[in-house]
Amino acid sequence: MNRAEKIAAKFSDGMEFTGDDGSDLEDVCLNVAGGCMALDCGNASRYVFDDGSSITISGDEWDIGYPDCMCFRGAGHSPDCPAHNAPEGAVAWKYTDPTEEARWIFDEDEMDAIRAEDAGLIVEVG
Ligand SMILES: [Zn+2]
Repeated sequence: MNRAEKIAAKFSDGMEFTGDDGSDLEDVCLNVAGGCMALDCGNASRYVFDDGSSITISGDEWDIGYPDCMCFRGAGHSPDCPAHNAPEGAVAWKYTDPTEEARWIFDEDEMDAIRAEDAGLIVEVG
């Protein structure tokens, strides 16, 4: 099992945020061995662990997620997920930030530079 699967196993389903032992899902994510990257994307959060697995929380539901987008693994990528809709040559989708509208990125160096500042803005595609 990867880290996300181990965490998910402590909680009964995608609606339950308190484990059988009283632990809190987000506390468990934040304190996992190896550390995690906590990304806040509007009304959703994503915890990405050092093995690349992740837990995504959206509203009052959570699931094992993908490393680069906010979709739930159990449901698969949503129809509007950038992972499905990339134009030829695109390397990533960048979400809207305070300085510009969301857009495609065609240059890996630019993708890496933005990711270094705020990984939650980038969905790698392809
Ligand atoms: Zn997706």
